[in-house]
Amino acid sequence: MIPASFEYAVARDVAHAIELLTSSGGEGKVLAGGQSLIPLMKFRLAQPAFLVDINRISGLAQIRENGDLRIGALVREADLDMNPIVRERYQILVDTTRVIADPLVRNMATVGGNLAHADPANDHPATMLALRASVVARGPTGERLIPIDEFFVDTFTTVLGPNEILTEIRIPKPPARSGGAYLKLERKVGDFAIAGVAVMLALDEKGKVGAVGIGVTNAGPTAIRARKAEEILRGQATDDKTIAAAAAAAAGESKPWSDLRGPAEYKLDVIRVLTQRAIRKAVARATGGK
Ligand SMILES: Cc1cc2nc3c(=O)[nH]c(=O)nc-3n(C[C@H](O)[C@H](O)[C@H](O)COP(=O)(O)OP(=O)(O)OC[C@H]3O[C@@H](n4cnc5c(N)ncnc54)[C@H](O)[C@@H]3O)c2cc1C
Repeated sequence: MIPASFEYAVARDVAHAIELLTSSGGEGKVLAGGQSLIPLMKFRLAQPAFLVDINRISGLAQIRENGDLRIGALVREADLDMNPIVRERYQILVDTTRVIADPLVRNMATVGGNLAHADPANDHPATMLALRASVVARGPTGERLIPIDEFFVDTFTTVLGPNEILTEIRIPKPPARSGGAYLKLERKVGDFAIAGVAVMLALDEKGKVGAVGIGVTNAGPTAIRARKAEEILRGQATDDKTIAAAAAAAAGESKPWSDLRGPAEYKLDVIRVLTQRAIRKAVARATGGK
C-alpha cells in the first residue's frame, strides 16, 4: 500500500532534529532505518504528518567502549554483528542481532530504532533488560539517562517525549566470569519470536551466581524482566534444580497471549525451556565455553 502523504526533512545534527520535531507540534516522527515505521505507514497503521530523517547525523553510528559499551542510535544490526568488541565480549548481542529478521532488514535496521519502537516482539528489549542497559535521550531541555527498566511503558510506547531523540545505548561492562545468551524460537527464519529469552549472569569463584539479568520477548505488552527467576538464581550454584526453578519462575512471570504463533500455554512452556537453555549457555560462556 501507499502511505498517507507526509512532510519530510533531513536533520543535520541532533539539535536540528529536536528543533524539527518541536516545530511539528507533536506530529513528527523520527525516521531511522525505517524497517518498522515504513511498513506501519504503508499499512496506514501510522500516519505521521512529518518525518525527521536522522540518518545523515554524524557521530550516532559508533560502537565504543568507555568503561561501559556505548552503541550509537544509528548503529545498524549488521554493524553490531560485525563489530570486533561486540564479537569478543558481548556474545549475547551477537545472538540477538543474528535472529532479527533477515540480512536485508539488518543492513538498515538500527538498534536504537528497535528499542524506540517498543514492540514486545522485538528482540533487543529483552536483551537490554538482561544486560541492565541505559538509554541516553536528548530533548529541548537537555540530555537524560534512562535505566532500561523505566524505558518501556506499553506496546509501541516508551518514556521518550515527542521531541526527544534516543542517541545512545549504554551497557555496563560485564564483570569477570560473566556470560550471556539470547535464545529465540521462531516459526521460520526471519520471523518474529514465538518467545525469546535473554540471560546475562556473572559467577563468583565458587561458581555461584552474582549479578544476573533475565529478559523475555513476547511475554506481555512489553518485554519483561523476570525478576523472580533472577532472585532464585542469585547466590546459588547453577545446578539442575535451581535452573529448573528459575525457568519455571520466568514462565510464571510471563503473560503471553494466544495468536497465530501458538496458544499462550504453549508459549509459557517455550519460555520455560528457553530460560533453562539460555541459563546453561550463559554459564558455559561465563566459564570459558562457547
Ligand atoms: C521483514 C521484517 C522482519 C522483522 N523481524 C524482526 C525480528 O525478528 N526481530 C526484531 O526485533 N525486529 C524485527 N523487525 C523489526 C525491525 O527490525 C525493528 O523494529 C527495526 O529495526 C526498528 O529500527 P529502525 O531503525 O528500522 O526504526 P524505524 O522503523 O525508523 O523507527 C521505528 C520507531 O522508532 C522511532 N525511532 C527510531 N529511532 C529513533 C531514535 N533514535 N530516537 C527516537 N525515536 C526513534 C521511530 O520514530 C519509529 O516510531 C522486522 C522488520 C521487518 C521489516
